[in-house]
Amino acid sequence: MNTTPFVDMHCDTLMQSWFRNKKDIYKTSSMLDVKRLRQGGAKAQFFAIFMQSMRAKHLLGPFMIRDERYINKLIRAFYNTLQKHSDVIAFAGNYEDMENNWQQGKISAFLTMEDGRAVGGRMEKLEEYYDKGVRLIGLTWNYPNCFGYPNSADVTVMKRGLSDFGREAVEEMNRLGMLVDVSHLSDGGFWDVARISKKPFVASHSNARALCGHPRNLTDEMIRAVGEAGGVIGLNQCPEFLYPYSGENRLEDMVKHLLHIRKVGGREVAALGSDFDGITGTLAIKGPQDYGKLADALAKAGLSGEEIDEIFFKNVERVIRDVMR
Ligand SMILES: [Zn+2]
Repeated sequence: MNTTPFVDMHCDTLMQSWFRNKKDIYKTSSMLDVKRLRQGGAKAQFFAIFMQSMRAKHLLGPFMIRDERYINKLIRAFYNTLQKHSDVIAFAGNYEDMENNWQQGKISAFLTMEDGRAVGGRMEKLEEYYDKGVRLIGLTWNYPNCFGYPNSADVTVMKRGLSDFGREAVEEMNRLGMLVDVSHLSDGGFWDVARISKKPFVASHSNARALCGHPRNLTDEMIRAVGEAGGVIGLNQCPEFLYPYSGENRLEDMVKHLLHIRKVGGREVAALGSDFDGITGTLAIKGPQDYGKLADALAKAGLSGEEIDEIFFKNVERVIRDVMR
């Protein structure tokens, strides 16, 4: 099996480690760990601080762990792993860090945040999180927050744009060198980001709506807009976002989405954002150790080695270089 190096823009492994009360993700019982990243030939993995859902907050009320405490626990697991396994994995805050790590034979770990509600409408929080290592924020998850509204089957919600705070925060994130992530955002919010962001932005883990009509996926117009902004879209391996009601993530569907994204947005726009540890179903790719299967499937579909490299790491590396300081 092919082991093309890859840079994956999204996983929920830190949340899984918290569920399992583990402070080290070198070896886990979930979908992803450092060991399997190594097996798969990873160059970099983005690790999301996935915020606990608002539904859980409503259900658990005072028993729910406080956001701040929860975030700190996940950040500690992240840095604890890097410290204990510094021979194989290291923090990356920009392109140079990543290249240095790679030259030393190390995987790069980027820290990200999924759901900007942790920012709580306070602009200074962005820099605070930046200083803690966060280099990308998914502006919303599936609930409204201080940035704006989420993707939704309800057209009125879907049309809503960013809040006043959200619009200003995009500019601040540009200034800080933090990636703006539109995965999970409403269509209205997407277009606000496309209009406001002066730097390339990303959909870290979303697919093509023309092939699978889920509101989490991007329309062809959006795919073009991400391409025009110099950004990338990471292929999400969640069965629901690949093929309606299949319950299965098949290599053939992943290939179709990637080819579609390339055809519509240009060959510079397709990238990877597995969503490992945030997805379930019958999986053709069970974790990062299997990424070679996707490279093989793309080669079989007629893509050259250079074109596969673009999808696997080159396109997202360009964005990291252009945006992070
Ligand atoms: Zn997500």
